[in-house]
Amino acid sequence: MYTDIKTILDDANNHNYAVLAASAFNLELARGAIAAADEMQAPLIVLMGQIQITRHARPELMVPLVQKLAEQTNVPVALLLDHGRDWEKITWAYRQGFSSIMIDASVYPLEENIQRTKKIVELCHAQHIAVEGELGHVGSASSLDGCDQSLYTKPEEAIRFVKETNVDSLAIACGTAHGNYPKGFTPTINFEVIRQVKQAVDIPLALHGGSGSGDENIRRAVAAGINKVNIATEIFNHCRDHLMNRLNACPDIDYLSCMIETEQVCKNAVKHFIHLTGSEGKASNFVRKSTFCHSINSTALEPGE
Ligand SMILES: [Zn+2]
Repeated sequence: MYTDIKTILDDANNHNYAVLAASAFNLELARGAIAAADEMQAPLIVLMGQIQITRHARPELMVPLVQKLAEQTNVPVALLLDHGRDWEKITWAYRQGFSSIMIDASVYPLEENIQRTKKIVELCHAQHIAVEGELGHVGSASSLDGCDQSLYTKPEEAIRFVKETNVDSLAIACGTAHGNYPKGFTPTINFEVIRQVKQAVDIPLALHGGSGSGDENIRRAVAAGINKVNIATEIFNHCRDHLMNRLNACPDIDYLSCMIETEQVCKNAVKHFIHLTGSEGKASNFVRKSTFCHSINSTALEPGE
């Protein structure tokens, strides 16, 4: 069932678990991820980044695909524009039927971040589209931005940010970063930051840069109050490595087999992360009854009791 991140994450926040947000910018990744969620009866958030929709996954093609796949399963599936930064790209995704938008104005000072985020929230909420904002800044793993504690989210700023922007979920910075960490490096997550921000705002919190953080870090982050775990790089790496090994072992393999196997590898990776988030079986928490989001058949999901 096609829904939005507010519906999914409010239930996760109320019941102390997290939902996997898996990056899926083509047919194989979207089918693999949604099949994994279906098998594990877990809610799922499908991510497509601003760069991905610009360079490859055109929303006109991908939104109907994800909506169709979502409607073929009973598990709630949301489609989120990840790291929307430009007004033009955000409104493009908005018009094409994304159920949820992330506005990332975290490179700006607090005041400007609030103003930019608030503008997107007002636009989206009028159409029942849920919005995630970012406070603090989740940077790049290759330059070890996650170690820069000056970028971490501050609870007192989070209170003001949430109150003034009215975001539905908040991406926080607490030690992780985007992309591949240097070989052998495991990030140190400041779980106290998660606990303090959660206590301050009590809305769903998102952990970005989950790839390469290690299973134990993800489990502990969820226990500390994270409700959404973003994974992109690690799923992509699994798919790439599998293809590389298969092509090395069998250079004559046909392309169709490569794509079928990629989908299966994605599915297995997504199942692993669903397990870590604690969302397995949580689809039963949702019943089809309300209309928070603009679903393709005008029905949407709300958390059950
Ligand atoms: Zn991110």
